[in-house]
Formats: sequence, structure tokens, C-alpha cells
Amino acid sequence: MKLHEFPRHPLTFGPSPVHRLARLTAHLGGAEVWAKREDVSSGLAYGGNKVRKLEYIVPDVLASGADTLVSIGGVQSNHTRQVAAVAAHLGLKARLVQEKWVPWDDPVNDKVGNILLSRMMGADVRLDPSGFDIGIRRSWEDAIREVEEAGGTPYPIPAGASEHPLGGLGFANWAFEVAEQEQALGVRFDTVVVCTVTGSTHAGMIAGFAALEELTGVRRRVLGIDASATLAKTTDQVARIARHTAELIELGRDLRDDEISVLEGWAGDLYGIPVDSTMEAIRLGAELEAMITDPVYEGKSLAGLIDLVGSGGIPRDSTVLYAHLGGQPALNAYHSLWA
Ligand SMILES: *Cc1c(COP(=O)(O)O)cnc(C)c1O
Repeated sequence: MKLHEFPRHPLTFGPSPVHRLARLTAHLGGAEVWAKREDVSSGLAYGGNKVRKLEYIVPDVLASGADTLVSIGGVQSNHTRQVAAVAAHLGLKARLVQEKWVPWDDPVNDKVGNILLSRMMGADVRLDPSGFDIGIRRSWEDAIREVEEAGGTPYPIPAGASEHPLGGLGFANWAFEVAEQEQALGVRFDTVVVCTVTGSTHAGMIAGFAALEELTGVRRRVLGIDASATLAKTTDQVARIARHTAELIELGRDLRDDEISVLEGWAGDLYGIPVDSTMEAIRLGAELEAMITDPVYEGKSLAGLIDLVGSGGIPRDSTVLYAHLGGQPALNAYHSLWA
């Protein structure tokens, strides 16, 4: 099927806004920088990139007759909060496994932010001591079985909705949305910068922009900034999901290696723990643009963008689109970084 033939259940207000970052651009003195904002494009519990992936998964949920969405993430997972939001919106239950993905020992870490919102929306939230891993987890499979044993009908959604067969479609469609917005705004983005961890956001974009290239001949760079600190696993997952999604939307050719670029250098040593470049990027985004980014994801991808513009890795005459994927609710758990 072609991308536009896949059923999509709307969960956003419409296309996510695109706007210029004039003061950041002036500060960097190089490439022109714009942002596309998944953090302000849905009314479901602050939204974010997972809502957009779920738009293509919900039709399958509804067709399956399930009554409980079962998913997994870290304690401060944005993804599980968005699953809880979509469950509430659809009148379904949510069962969430929240693992200890980040060694962050703030006493309110498992009480505020994303996990607070999930509890408010009625999700069944269970803490699990396992550490960070973007793969398929035992605790998640156990949760699915427990829902069944209790007489429910589970619908499994893996971490970040990435390993779901339809997980890449939301951001393949994002590419086509960008092309339409370019027309309307009279601008052409040659480079896209996006944070990548479980992979299907970046992978979907790769497949979507490849499909656009087949139609228009326009090539762009889609740079994934790794925030997992497990680069090999994330790169593997991005490549696999990108190829799967490309096949799903009938791209009609294999993806080239140069279309899949996951860059290291800004994740630090651990997922969820900011480093100096993260904090500096968060400060610049906030002070220059009042664009709020978080220490787990978007602060790291913004740091990548800033450094690449500075080093010439992104040329001075480029027009760059920074994909802001959300994540601000987790900030509550990181209050001590600014105290
Ligand atoms: C999940 C998430 C990401 C990473 O997206 P993946 O599809 O998991 O690679 C980036 N930023 C935010 C705010 C997220 O919640």
C-alpha cells in the first residue's frame, strides 16, 4: 500500500507547527535554523512524537477488539504517558511497565512529571527495577500475559512503539507534511536533525523522505542524533525499521547506506543523564527562543545541531529543520539540575 492508503486515526490538531528560530540562528551565525514542533501539536496530555506514531496504530487497536493497551518504558517515559493519554481518549485501559532505565535518584523521580500524568489518566502503572534496554522485554511480555489471565484483551505496544510493524508510518507521513509546509512557507530544508533512541521516529523520516525523493528528485540529509548511548543497537534498530517501513509504503528500492546516519557524540555515557553540551543546548534554547527542551532527548539533539553548525558539519548556507519531539513533562524530575 502507498502511505496515504494506510488508515490514520487523528490524535493531533493537524500538521505540527513550523517556525523560524531567529535568535538561535543569529547566535550561531551560520545555517538558518527552523523547528517543527511535535510538543505543541496535540491536546492529549501535552502530546509528543509517540502520539503521531499511534495515529497509525490505533486503527489496528480498534479492529482488534482490545480493551487494554500494554506498554513499557522508563519511569519518566514520555511514550508510556502518551499511551495512557490515547487509552483515556479512546475509553480503553492502560497497563504500563515503568523500568528503572535511568540511574537518577531524585526522591520525586517516580512521583512527578510523566508518571504523575499517567496515574492521573487512570493507567495501571507498575514499577520494575530492570535497567535500560530498547529491545523486547520480559516484564512487558509478563504484563501482556497478566492482562489476559485477568480476563482482559491486551494490545501490546513495544517501547517507543518502535518495534510495532506500523511504528514507522507516523514519521514517514511527517516527511510529506514537511514538503507541504515548505511549499506554503516558501522555504526548502536540506537538513533535518532528530533525536533517536528506540528508532522509529528517525526511521520513519528516512523512509518518508526517500519516498519523496523518488517523486521529486530532491535529496536531503536526515541526521539522527543518538541519545541512547547504546549506539550500535540504536543504529541497527533505525536501519531495520527504516527498511521495513520503506517496504511497507512500497518505496520500490533499497535504502542507500548514506540515507541512514545515526551520529554519536552528544548522548554522554548514559541514557537519561545530561552532559555539559546538553545543559548548554537547553540553556540556549530556553534563553534565546523560550523553546524548552529536556535533558533526556531534545537537549541532546539540540546540542548535536548546535555543534554541527559550529563545526561546518552542517554547512553555513544550509536551512535546517530541528524536529522537536516533546519530552518537557520529564523536566519536573530533573529540577535539581537548576536548583
Ligand atoms: C521517544 C522520544 C524520542 C526518541 O524517539 P524514538 O522514536 O524512540 O527514537 C525523542 N524525544 C522525545 C521527547 C521522546 O519522547
